[in-house]
Amino acid sequence: MVELGVGTSTQAKSGLSAEQVDAFKGGLRGVLLRPREPGYDEARTVWNGMTDKRPGLIIRCAGASDVIKAVNLARDNGLLLAVRGGDHSVAGHSVCDGGIMIDLSAMRSVRVDPVKRTARAEGGTRWGDFDKETQAFGLATTGGTNSDTGIAGLTLGGGIGWLAGKYGLSCDNLLSADVVTASGELLTASATDNPDLFWALRGGGGNFGVVTSFEYQLQELSTILGGMVIHSFARATDVLRFYAEFSRSIPDELNTICALLTSPDGQPVIAIAVCYNGNLEQGERVLQPVRDFGPPLVDQISPMPYTAMQTMLDAAFPRGRQYYWKANLITDIGPNAIDVIAEYFARVPSPFTVLGFQQLGNFTNRVAPGATAFSHRDARYDFLMLSGWEDPLQADQNIAWTREVYAAMRPSLHAGMYVNAVGAESVSEVRAAYRADTYGRLVALKRKYDPTNLFRLNANIDPGE
Ligand SMILES: Cc1cc2nc3c(=O)[nH]c(=O)nc-3n(C[C@H](O)[C@H](O)[C@H](O)COP(=O)(O)OP(=O)(O)OC[C@H]3O[C@@H](n4cnc5c(N)ncnc54)[C@H](O)[C@@H]3O)c2cc1C
Repeated sequence: MVELGVGTSTQAKSGLSAEQVDAFKGGLRGVLLRPREPGYDEARTVWNGMTDKRPGLIIRCAGASDVIKAVNLARDNGLLLAVRGGDHSVAGHSVCDGGIMIDLSAMRSVRVDPVKRTARAEGGTRWGDFDKETQAFGLATTGGTNSDTGIAGLTLGGGIGWLAGKYGLSCDNLLSADVVTASGELLTASATDNPDLFWALRGGGGNFGVVTSFEYQLQELSTILGGMVIHSFARATDVLRFYAEFSRSIPDELNTICALLTSPDGQPVIAIAVCYNGNLEQGERVLQPVRDFGPPLVDQISPMPYTAMQTMLDAAFPRGRQYYWKANLITDIGPNAIDVIAEYFARVPSPFTVLGFQQLGNFTNRVAPGATAFSHRDARYDFLMLSGWEDPLQADQNIAWTREVYAAMRPSLHAGMYVNAVGAESVSEVRAAYRADTYGRLVALKRKYDPTNLFRLNANIDPGE
């Protein structure tokens, strides 16, 4: 027996013989990487530079057959299992110390059906891949606001994006998914096939299996009216008051983000970012109050291709920086919240940190809470505390500040969290991501589809509860 440092699902050490590993490798279409092999370090590196974990084996799958084999290997040998889609889990859920990492980064094909207006995309696809392929046909669906983020983690948690006002969350546009469950079976989940699993996938995160491909409903879309207005930080309180009022009643075509950040020349500023997907003249009228309020230091709102909107925020969150993020849903941005945000941002410890609100979107709010596992449909924004810094020695200061902001904001926040913001350590945060009835249903489905909790490196629903 060769010790590979492959931890079991209960964290103890176990090993696979060199013969076992070689035989497994011979059966793969994709690539198997062991520690110290060329490509291993690159493959274990994820978006958040704070995450530094070393899997015992990395299985870079080429297709569903590799995923099935990897799931069977982990289950039969009691090995800890991580699943990497777009690797943007801030908590570092997509990689593990010891154990096996299923790496889907080579599975990024997207097939668009322009007649049916649907797209099928593999589990390692990123929104940048997806948007380029669908926009070639003038089509789109709600995706995240950064092009490097994975469709998998984002959709399985819900998926808040610029088009959510008119079309809902990414999960609201999911038509079907192919899933390798803990038993190693590949199941299709849709409204007609395994509908209970389909319900759970739309908000239940990575708890129910490895999704090898997602099928989405698409909508016609090309040029949007988007961009941002920027004001000096001195006006933060006024801008936040305006934003709270303006965003309360907007047409479905519009979705918004309001954020405090530091400009590239080191000035603290507040920005309102918008995306209007509809008649452009109508959009100009709807957005006039945003442009008139102020006047802003900068007005960058203009017609642009949807793909430009989808990459507008990329530079703010580069791969490899140190990040500690918290987020919590909120229904109304009241005076207390505004005061707290302005007060804390005045002493933000890093120029790379952002505090802000991402609007869930009108359509999202209209979906019945029990329709999908994403159930906090009454919340109107996700309040984002996105701390980023470059020197690892500054971690304590930045993490402490983020937690202070959260504690001070707590009285103004919704009881619920967005599951994609759940931290690495918190059981109570997972519960807060769901209404009580939703959580009970998810536990029952976890017992059905993953009774031994093979898929545990996520916002974990414990089947033993
Ligand atoms: C820069 C940035 C911008 C973001 N913007 C948005 C936004 O606009 N809207 C929004 O809603 N969220 C946003 N998020 C949050 C994002 O939705 C989550 O971080 C999400 O989990 C990322 O998915 P991923 O596939 O990239 O991550 P990964 O780290 O690969 O995976 C995240 C989780 O999903 C599981 N998983 C991954 N792939 C699969 C699969 N194929 N099958 C089953 N489980 C899988 C993983 O095991 C892990 O538990 C953003 C995050 C970042 C870092």
